[in-house]
Amino acid sequence: MEFDSHRIESGARVPRPTDFVNVVATLPGTQPESRDRIYVVSGHYDSMPSSPVDGEKDAPGANDDASGTAVSMELACVMSKYKFDATLVFMAVAGEEQGLLGSTGYAKAAKAKGLDIAGMFTNDIVGNTKSADGKVDRGRVRLFAEGVPPSKEPPDAVIAALRTSGENDMPTRQLARFVKESAERHVPGIKVDIIWRRDRYLRGGDHFPFLDAGYAALRFTEPVEDWRHQHQDVRVVDGVQYGDLPEFVDFEYVAQVARVNGAALASLALGPSIPVEVELENLRLEMDSTLRWKRNPEPDIAGYRIVWRETTASVWQNAVDVGNVTRHTITGLSKDNVIFGVQAYDRDGNLSVPAYPKPYRPPTTQPAAPAK
Ligand SMILES: [Zn+2]
Repeated sequence: MEFDSHRIESGARVPRPTDFVNVVATLPGTQPESRDRIYVVSGHYDSMPSSPVDGEKDAPGANDDASGTAVSMELACVMSKYKFDATLVFMAVAGEEQGLLGSTGYAKAAKAKGLDIAGMFTNDIVGNTKSADGKVDRGRVRLFAEGVPPSKEPPDAVIAALRTSGENDMPTRQLARFVKESAERHVPGIKVDIIWRRDRYLRGGDHFPFLDAGYAALRFTEPVEDWRHQHQDVRVVDGVQYGDLPEFVDFEYVAQVARVNGAALASLALGPSIPVEVELENLRLEMDSTLRWKRNPEPDIAGYRIVWRETTASVWQNAVDVGNVTRHTITGLSKDNVIFGVQAYDRDGNLSVPAYPKPYRPPTTQPAAPAK
């Protein structure tokens, strides 16, 4: 475990020079080929009363975000008893309410060091199950997943994917589908509702700096929020209790969210890396679809799975295991009408996150004039 400190001299919500210190626990991966692949899970341990620069008033922060911090800490306790191929990092970060300062410090340093963060989850506000109007929902958790990054100059990989309408197959959404699938397979009683959006309106979170650094990053949040118990001075107004107090946290629900994270993280860290150089052959007009990819580096790879869905579907609808090959043709299924993905799996059946294919044309082929 280590302390990861970032000094901020001043800012809109930082009245005096302050050290923002993240608490970071690392569980190193045990497979040499996967050890450098990292999954990060975090919650933020700072909290605020009504004013973000008020360091005096009580700010219990039971839901925002002791709930998420507890998820990250509990996962560290439980998962450290097991071995995973890839590396897991459990964090409690600081300064979220002052402008995502702890997570920004960590994500920028990770990018500068060239760390391969293959996925990041922030758990932020994952403990309340009752809205102000009395609606109770304990059976779902929201998972916010950005699509195309909102940058003026998107990376080449993004532009390439957009050319074949891969806007819903950016790494963040591939990761979100994988999380939903693995969590719902292993955790009874809770559904993962993917929201194709960076975050809620007017809100942000610690996944932002990871997204901005080019990493796939997601946010877990409860399905119904009660804003009387977020960012509020502890007080009673007209008989209504305000403040982020423990009595408004549903601890069994927080445990369910931890299980969702645990199932997803274990599946990711036990599984292989995303296949690379995944391509869809684009040689002639035809009704068949041929995919090719590079063999994965892990020694325990047992084969590959091709998944697909209709272009308007949000989650995978079909899958076929094609064995330990690097090229496969699906006959009678036109690539014009579906979206494909390729996953690797290991001898224990652990799957990778799917890769979105680029079009492939052999280098010797002269580009043909597009037919109308
Ligand atoms: Zn928060």
